[in-house]
Formats: sequence, structure tokens, C-alpha cells
Amino acid sequence: MIIMKFGGSSLESASAIQRVAAIVKGSLASHPAVVVSAIGKTTNRLLHIAEFAAQGDALTAWRKLLALEADHLQIAAKLGITVDREIEALFDELRGDILEIASLGSISPSLWDRVASFGERLSSLIVTAALRKTGVPAKHLDARRLIVTDAHHTEAAPLTIETYAKVRRAIPCADRSLVPVLGGFIASAEDGTPTTLGRGGSDYTASLIGAAINADEIQIWTDVDGMLTCDPRVREGGQCLKSITYEEAEEMARLGAKVLHPETIAPARKQRVPVMIRNSRNPSHPGTLITAAACETGVAKSIATQPDLGRVALVGTGIHPHASRAQEALRRAGISATLSEVSYLRILFQSEPQSVTSAVDVLHREFFEVAPRSPERLALAAA
Ligand code: ADP
Ligand code: ASP
Ligand code: MG
Repeated sequence: MIIMKFGGSSLESASAIQRVAAIVKGSLASHPAVVVSAIGKTTNRLLHIAEFAAQGDALTAWRKLLALEADHLQIAAKLGITVDREIEALFDELRGDILEIASLGSISPSLWDRVASFGERLSSLIVTAALRKTGVPAKHLDARRLIVTDAHHTEAAPLTIETYAKVRRAIPCADRSLVPVLGGFIASAEDGTPTTLGRGGSDYTASLIGAAINADEIQIWTDVDGMLTCDPRVREGGQCLKSITYEEAEEMARLGAKVLHPETIAPARKQRVPVMIRNSRNPSHPGTLITAAACETGVAKSIATQPDLGRVALVGTGIHPHASRAQEALRRAGISATLSEVSYLRILFQSEPQSVTSAVDVLHREFFEVAPRSPERLALAAA
């Protein structure tokens, strides 16, 4: 079996969902289980609605809630699926939570989780119906009944023994003839209260499920070709990495590469399940493979950034001897950045937030674009 996780950016419209359905259909021979994030920016929109309600602006909260409901109904209509009653029932339930927030005047962490959970509850319902419409025998599973966590609301930690036992009982479905579809990110504490795994946590759900059933592969489908040598929101022109190790991927995610939730790698690595990053808008691209395979050491693989914190990090196995080269390149370019940490996997610089883009530019030119290029780099560039 394989796990196919589709992020919000891969589900932002009816046509994007149709594209996803075609990708799943094309993978039926590998027996997929599908994990979905909320559609587009739904989670942010839900949390804004809750904030307006908490601040006493019930009118704006109501207006935004109606717009969100209309958008979901419109996507369902464009897909030609009949789930209006289920969508409306979910929005009725959500209205109850928003009223509770309005009367309390604040959002408790458990209410935050309840409100945030609607994104994945809605998207999993819609994607299941869209898959069936495409001829995929999809079966909806409620992730809140499978992923068990502690009670640390908004950033709950999964209890893996309980979670894996439940997942193994539920998946595969009916001798693998059915394709399970479930929302990522959402879970429940042991007492049944809804929890969530932290922002971007659908990747983590996919990894937990893949590890539980010892899947052949966990595929993270997103809006970029794979792990790039730099964050495309900070600097364009990054190269797509063909393969990286679990440790490198984990380090990149922890240091700001949003393409993976930082906790995603650990469950996959423990069970030695390969993780792939793939582009749902460019499915013929091979993407980035993440495994335990030995890799070339002493080579920079990517620059991870946390612009708000002014942090810029060069990541790669055995990268530490390059600290002074990186420091010198930044100094030559007149960028003030302090070398704050050097380890086997990272060289971390601290700068002012406004210097991050130029620091990335300098380091990218120094470590990824300077001749002579090694055969490995040429292969990566050609991929
Ligand atoms: P999804 O909706 O699929 O979960 P995310 O927005 O969470 O997508 O993650 C994908 C985004 O991660 C990309 O669009 C890109 O802007 C960002 N990103 C940050 N660093 C990297 C990197 N090194 N390689 C690829 N993408 C990155
Ligand atoms: N929908 C959640 C979020 O926006 C989880 C995810 O997208 O992975 O944070
Ligand atoms: Mg994401």
C-alpha cells in the first residue's frame, strides 16, 4: 500500500480536486490510502472567523462563515457531487461553536481545535465523493477515531501505540478493494475531545498512517516539484533535489522548509518507509525521494529560512567544514549575519529579517551555482 497526502494547495478548486482524483485513479494498482488537508486556505479562514467572533464582531464572523460555506457548496456543485446536506450539517455544527466563542469572548485551545477541524472534515467528505465520481471505490474514514493524541490542544502529540493499533484495524479496507480517505491534521484525545497536530499537520498524519501499516511509500503531494535548494517564496530559481536523507529532510523542515511538517519524518524513519515529495500540478516530475540511503557528505543540500526570525541555515550531511566559507561569502557581500550554530547537519546564521533574502541569494550562488559543478549537482539540475 502507499499513502498519498494532498495539501490544501493541491485541493484549492474543483479542477484541482479533479486533478487529484486522476492522480489517485492512476495509482490504484499500488493500493493507495488518501490523506487530505483542508481545501485551499480554509483553516486560516476558519480561525479568522473564530477571532472575529471572539472580538465581538459577530456580523463579520457570520458573513465570512457564509462565504466559506458558499465556496464549499460551489466546489461540490462544480464537481457534480451531491454532498450539500452533509456540508450544511457541518456548517450548522460550526455555527454552534462560533456562537459559543462569541458568548465567551475568547477562543480556548479546545475550541480552537474544534473550529480548525472543520476544514479537514469538509475536504475529506468532498474528496471521497469526487473520487467515487471518478470511478475510484473510496471509503471515508474519520481520522478523529484513528489518531489518538495527548490533550495538548492545538499541537497535540500522537500516542503511537494506540494510534497504530486503530489504524491497523481500519486500514486496509475490505481486502484493499476500497480506497480509504481521511482528513489529515485532526485527531482526538483519549477522552474523545477533538485535537489537532499543529499547523501543517496533515503531513504528520500521512506519516503516522504509513508507519502504522508499514506502507511501501508515503507520498506528499504539494505545489512544488520537490524539496528545493531554497524556499521559492524567499528566492526563485532553486533546484529540485533528487534525493535526500531522513535526517536532512527533518533538519530542513525544522529550520523552516514548510513543504514538510517537522514531525513528519520521525514515524517514517522508524519504520524505514520512503517518503516522496511530488507536485500535483506536475505529476510527471519524479519529485524528491527521502530515505535512509547513504549520501554524499560535505555538500550543501538546501538553504532553509525562517525570515521572521532572521534565520538562514545551510543544511547537508557533514556540512560543518564549510562554515568559514559561508561566513566569508556573506562578509564579502557586505551582509551582516552572525554565525550562531555549526553542527554535522547545519550551519546556522542569525541576521536581521530584512537581510534574509540577500543572505540566501549570496549563499545560493556560492554553494549551488558556482563552477566547477560536481556530477551529482549536474544530475540534480537535470532532474
Ligand atoms: P501544502 O498545501 O501542499 O501542504 P505547503 O504550503 O504546506 O503546501 O508547503 C509547500 C510550500 O513549501 C511550497 O509552496 C514552498 O513555498 C514552501 N517551501 C519552503 N521551503 C521549501 C523548500 N526548500 N522546497 C520546496 N518548498 C519549500
Ligand atoms: N489544514 C491544516 C493547516 O492549514 C493542516 C495542513 O494543511 O496540513 O494547518
Ligand atoms: Mg503543508
